[in-house]
Amino acid sequence: MTVNVLFAAPEKDWEEYAPHLRTALADFGIAADVGTDIAPEATDYIVYAPNSPLQDFRPFTRCKAVLNLWAGVEQVVSNPTLSQPLARMVDEGLTNGMVEWVCGHTLRHHLGMDTHIHGQDGIWREGSVPPLASERTVCILGIGALGSACAHHLAQFGFKMRGWSRSPKRIEGVTCFHGENGLKEALTGADIVILLLPNTPDTENTLNSETLALLAQGAVVINPGRGPLIDDDALLAALNSGQIGHATLDVFRTEPLPADHPYWSHPRVTVTPHIASATRPNTAARVVAENIRRGEAGEPFLHLVNRQSGY
Ligand code: NAP
Repeated sequence: MTVNVLFAAPEKDWEEYAPHLRTALADFGIAADVGTDIAPEATDYIVYAPNSPLQDFRPFTRCKAVLNLWAGVEQVVSNPTLSQPLARMVDEGLTNGMVEWVCGHTLRHHLGMDTHIHGQDGIWREGSVPPLASERTVCILGIGALGSACAHHLAQFGFKMRGWSRSPKRIEGVTCFHGENGLKEALTGADIVILLLPNTPDTENTLNSETLALLAQGAVVINPGRGPLIDDDALLAALNSGQIGHATLDVFRTEPLPADHPYWSHPRVTVTPHIASATRPNTAARVVAENIRRGEAGEPFLHLVNRQSGY
C-alpha cells in the first residue's frame, strides 16, 4: 500500500528535502507518495515545519502523525487543532552542527581569543596564558539530545562539566543536577553557562537577576536555546555591572532581532542570527522515514512530544 506524505513547510524547503525524503522512504521499503499538494483527507503523515502556512490540522482526519522538522516545538505544541501525535526532530546533522557551534563559542571565551583577534596593534604584550579547560566550570542548562552531546564533547576537552534537566540524569564526565533546587547548585560559581532548554512556560526567564548572580564574577552566557529563556533586562544589567563578562546570543524573543535592540551595540554581546544549527535534510529524511516505518508497523513513534510538558 502507498502512504501519502504531505510536506508542509515554506515552499523553498521542498526542493531541498524532496530527493532526500524519496530516497530515505525507498531505503526503508516504504511505498510513498510525497508532495506538497496531498489532499487533507488522503494524508497519512505530515512532515511539518512550524512556519508552514498549514496551521489547521482538523481536516487531516486520517493523519497518523505530524513529524516536525525542527527540534523546537513551541510554535506547534499548543495548536488547539492538533489532535495527532507530534514528533520533534532529533537529527544527527542538527546535533553535530550544535556541538560544533557550542564548542567553538565556548573555546573562544575560554581561550580569550578576542584579545588577539582584535588587538593587532604592534605591541608585544606578554600577558597571561589561558587556563586549561580543567580549571573552568561549564554548566549546560538542558541536557537532552543537544545539550548532552555538547556536554560530552566539552568534557573531552577537560572542562568541569555540569548539566541540569527536569528529571534525574547520568552522563559520564558530567555532574548532573535536576529540578528547581538543582538549578542553584548547577549555576553556583560556573564560569560559562550554555542554554539548551526548550521554550516552555516552565523555562521562561530561567536566567534572571537571581540566577545570573549565582555565576562566577565575569561569567559568560551562551544561548543557542531560545530567547525567552533569558530575562533580557536582567542580562543587560548583569553585563553592565560586570557580573557577566560576555553573552553570545543566537536566539531572541523577537527574531529578527530589531536593529535598535541594545544587544546589537553592546560591546560585550555577540549576536548571531539563529544559525547555531539547523536540521540537515539528508540525515533528517531518514529520521522521518524511520518514524513512518514505525507508524506503518504499529510500533511506537520516536521523539514524541509530551503535550503537557510542552517539549
Ligand atoms: P530535548 O532533547 O527535549 O532536551 C531538552 C532538555 O531540557 C532536557 O534535558 C529536559 O529535561 C530539559 N528541560 C526541559 N524543561 C525543563 C525544566 N522545566 N527544567 C529543567 N530542565 C528542563 O531538546 P533538544 O533536542 O536538546 O533541543 C533543545 C532546544 O534547543 C530546542 O527546544 C530548541 O529550542 C533549541 N534549538 C536551537 C537551535 C538553534 O539553531 N539555535 C537548533 C536546534 C534546537 P529532561 O531531560 O528531564 O526531559
